Amino acid sequence: MNLLEVKNLTVRYERQCAVENVSFSLREGDYAAIVGENGSGKSTLVKTLVGLIPASDGEVEMHGMTRREIGYLPQSTIVQKDFPASVTEVVLTGCLADGKFRPFYTKAQKELAKEMMALLGVTPFAKKSFRELSGGQQQRVLLARALCATKKLLILDEPASVLDPVVTHELYGILRRLNRERGITILMVSHDIHCALEQATTILHMDRTLRFCGAVHDYMHTSEYRRMVGDCEPELHAHHHHHNHCTGYAAVPANSEGGAV
Ligand code: ADP
Ligand code: MG
Repeated sequence: MNLLEVKNLTVRYERQCAVENVSFSLREGDYAAIVGENGSGKSTLVKTLVGLIPASDGEVEMHGMTRREIGYLPQSTIVQKDFPASVTEVVLTGCLADGKFRPFYTKAQKELAKEMMALLGVTPFAKKSFRELSGGQQQRVLLARALCATKKLLILDEPASVLDPVVTHELYGILRRLNRERGITILMVSHDIHCALEQATTILHMDRTLRFCGAVHDYMHTSEYRRMVGDCEPELHAHHHHHNHCTGYAAVPANSEGGAV
């Protein structure tokens, strides 16, 4: 079943068109990665999907869910990293996604936040200030927050850009398990083409327009892919690189995905 259908979506800022005539759909259980150069419209596209930026043209349709039920992890900013609230408070704000204003959180919302903090292994920091946490811990807290908003669709904008390789590996492990074991559909913007290819099953290549949308193995035969990995990089090297980038770290024990989810 299609969870999300994007039809001829165009997004313009005052002075330029950032996303032009983009159409694709996501099926329930998909794990899709959006790749492309800096400034190719990736963040604009996902911000429009979650409703932060209005579409100039075209439509975004959702089936069996509403826009409010998307769990969204924005591209990190310094401001966000400095947020002066406790971990529990940050996670709880994810529950506000239902749009109903209440002066306090309900018991059900508090339970949900607790469950998601446990799932992401951040319960030990529950009372700590968010800004005192490491980058990897903060990303896990923000993922717990996003999960309070959704049981269906997670949209993540460069979730690993602030993380070191070991924590990146851990985060990707968590995402894979959320996708496989909880059936959560994932749409992830990634600046790292090799990780995107290794994690996702579907690739969307943005260059203002959508240049490619399809399976990973088909993407690897495209000129878009060759440009992303560098034209002069020998095939062998690219392949080697691909396999070592995300999962091959000797420093990461084989069972390191085990704890958090
Ligand atoms: P990406 O995430 O792929 O790096 P963005 O979606 O952030 O790309 O940006 C796409 C284009 O839109 C860029 O040229 C960028 O400068 C421009 N842009 C992004 N955000 C804004 C904004 N708030 N106002 C005007 N232009 C913007
Ligand atoms: Mg971006």
